[in-house]
Amino acid sequence: EIEIRGLRKSFGDNEVLRGIDLEVARGEVVCVIGPSGSGKSTLLRCVNLLEEPSAGQVFVGGTEVTDLDVDIDAVRRRIGMVFQQFNLFPHITVTENLVLPQRRVLRRDKVKAAAVARENLDRVGLAEKADAYPAQLSGGQQQRVAIARALAMGPEVMLFDEPTSALDPELVGDVLAVMRVLAGEGMTMMVVTHEMSFAREVADRVVFMDGGVIVEQGPAEQVVGAPREERTRNFLNRIL
Ligand code: ATP
Ligand code: MG
Repeated sequence: EIEIRGLRKSFGDNEVLRGIDLEVARGEVVCVIGPSGSGKSTLLRCVNLLEEPSAGQVFVGGTEVTDLDVDIDAVRRRIGMVFQQFNLFPHITVTENLVLPQRRVLRRDKVKAAAVARENLDRVGLAEKADAYPAQLSGGQQQRVAIARALAMGPEVMLFDEPTSALDPELVGDVLAVMRVLAGEGMTMMVVTHEMSFAREVADRVVFMDGGVIVEQGPAEQVVGAPREERTRNFLNRIL
């Protein structure tokens, strides 16, 4: 579903991605781990063209998104992204936060957009918050709304960039539970996370990045449980 070939990205003379090759199959969940500054966010952002790669190719669902002639908006429609910061519009309700992008980007009519909003709020367990404003929700609830908003667009793949890092510890579980259900439903997912228990339970594959390269990848029980590379071991020792 996602194929990344020879991806490089520099900011000025700082080469942040130094040749990334990675495939994520349909329905696969890949967790990306690695130290701060290793290029994890930049990698995700290159997949949906929030950053323009300096070299290499990215394919999503068979379409080369790095093709200069590609319709960037059409590509982004197929890729849902959830950030550490939830980025909800504060001045409109939860439902309106889900309806607005469907109307603007997908040109859905009001009735259809509202129905899809309801369906996806239900999916993340927040149907009863439909008319609340973001500030009236906990951080974990806001993040679940952000996930529902992404899902309402009907994406083929979902990218998560440290979705629980900004949350109080007691709120992390609810968000991970929603992601676990999504994974179980067969969503293709790339997840940057420091939640090793999530990686162990949910990821089909764990990718360890350091210094803009993939140092090691494999099943969680191998990469997290019995890492082969010293850099991976050092990283895990620091965070576990
Ligand atoms: P963290 O775990 O802290 O989120 P990360 O692995 O996600 O780190 P990136 O955010 O991808 O790392 O950043 C990798 C490097 O790229 C860092 O050195 C960062 O300073 C640099 N970088 C990222 N975005 C930009 C930008 N827009 N302009 C210049 N440099 C950038
Ligand atoms: Mg990051």
